[in-house]
Amino acid sequence: MQKYDNYIDGKFSQSKSGQIRKIMDPANGEQIATVPESTKEDMLIAIAAARKAFDHGPWRKTAALDRGKALFKIADGIRAKAKMLAEIETKNCGKPLPEAEYDVADAANCFEFYGGLATKIHGETMSVPANSISYVVREPVGVCGQIVPWNFPLLMASWKIAPALAAGNTVILKPSELTPMTALELAKIIHESGLPEGVVNIVSGPGVGAGEELAINKDVDKIAFTGGTATGRKIMTAATGNLKRVTLELGGKNPNIIFEDCDIEAAVDGALFGAFANQGEVCSAGSRLLVHKSVHKQIVDGMLAKISRIKLGHGLSEGTKMGPLISSDHREKVESYIKIGIDEGAKLICGGKRPTSADLSLGNFLEPTIFDHVKPTMRIAREEIFGPVLSVIPFSTEEEAIELANDSEYGLAAGIWTKNVVRAHRVSQALRAGIIWVNNYHPTFNEMPWGGYKQSGHGRELGLHGIEAYLEIKQININLDETPIGWY
Ligand code: NDP
Repeated sequence: MQKYDNYIDGKFSQSKSGQIRKIMDPANGEQIATVPESTKEDMLIAIAAARKAFDHGPWRKTAALDRGKALFKIADGIRAKAKMLAEIETKNCGKPLPEAEYDVADAANCFEFYGGLATKIHGETMSVPANSISYVVREPVGVCGQIVPWNFPLLMASWKIAPALAAGNTVILKPSELTPMTALELAKIIHESGLPEGVVNIVSGPGVGAGEELAINKDVDKIAFTGGTATGRKIMTAATGNLKRVTLELGGKNPNIIFEDCDIEAAVDGALFGAFANQGEVCSAGSRLLVHKSVHKQIVDGMLAKISRIKLGHGLSEGTKMGPLISSDHREKVESYIKIGIDEGAKLICGGKRPTSADLSLGNFLEPTIFDHVKPTMRIAREEIFGPVLSVIPFSTEEEAIELANDSEYGLAAGIWTKNVVRAHRVSQALRAGIIWVNNYHPTFNEMPWGGYKQSGHGRELGLHGIEAYLEIKQININLDETPIGWY
């Protein structure tokens, strides 16, 4: 069994408190590792290390080309350990191995993308007023606190750390207390890459008691958070103490809209993948399936015909398509929504219960669940469930579909299924969401911005916009006229 350390100021260590946390495999309840159960004291040490590294260390003055090369080295390090990282991710999160392999490859690509971008952080020049030169430079924000959730641990850590480093910042990352293993493996890769001490600090511990210090502490210049909307709100409030920069990537109740002029087979596949990939534990999950009435039966029958292909099992077992939920508490939360759906009068057409086979009895498994004839006012149509529960809502017109889709406090992602290119553009522009997929669901690109409208978040990650969130803008004016101004 693996015993992990925190990574602070270039050194590996246990929590000052000596406390540890046992890490469990959610598929069978077996203990797979221990990690430090860090406290505020550990966090303060990490913040001081990141502050010192930013204010007095070499990193922010390192040539952009060399910062880029350092990120390429981290990408290489991830690729060299890809198999091991994917297996750990599967054991710790429950997700099927092919999904974990995809995440690990994407994490390496993310470091590579931002490694390339390090040399493309440009300024602007202007000649205002006459006889002067004015220019704009982009500089690192400073010390960045970063808090990530349990559904995509390595990938989320990479989305946070890579742009911050490319821009010349220093960071303290707190992984979820449930899934800290791959982030602590990433710490080893970063250490081996030779980054100066204190530039990256990775501290495992709970949100309340450790992570919250990153939002509160006045030596932290920016906080970047991915997780639930309720926690995001707390973080934003805590960050007002020193008005730190805040980016939030929060929840969603994303509409996946199937029009009557779609390719039915592709739409069925997209509906299932949108709802059930990663056990439905995805902020961008297509958990509201809006279906035109004329194809409603075909779509529902198509999904029911394929649902048995979503084989439950340990993520490392051959053929597994869906793993366990992250914890027994979380499974109970999802089950409570299934009860709410039944009580509210939605029609449960599949799933809704734990599997009965003996080999799955020790894990947090739940069958993929579909409710049909869901009314838009029902809680299962409005609240983020964050599990394998799909709500099917029929509609009659394009206008109604748009209205239903936008009738949400969230605005992260949306899917559109149609062969009509004009409709695809028209509906894409009408939807109030940060990510629109047409005839597809879930593809994510390091090159494209990620983030939501409304209560799905604040700011953007990934792409060129993602690095802007880690940069301050400074104007510098140089007077070329040496004559005294003679004002007085
Ligand atoms: P949280 O938002 O509570 O957790 C995300 C991260 O924030 C974890 O690292 C957590 O630490 C940390 N955290 C928790 N409270 C605080 C705090 N007060 N200050 C600083 N950091 C904090 O998500 P949960 O795991 O509790 O899940 C709750 C719901 O959030 C889910 O059911 C889902 O709806 C949504 N969610 C959305 C995600 C997304 O990708 N947008 C991801 C995960 C959840 P720790 O857990 O280690 O204590």
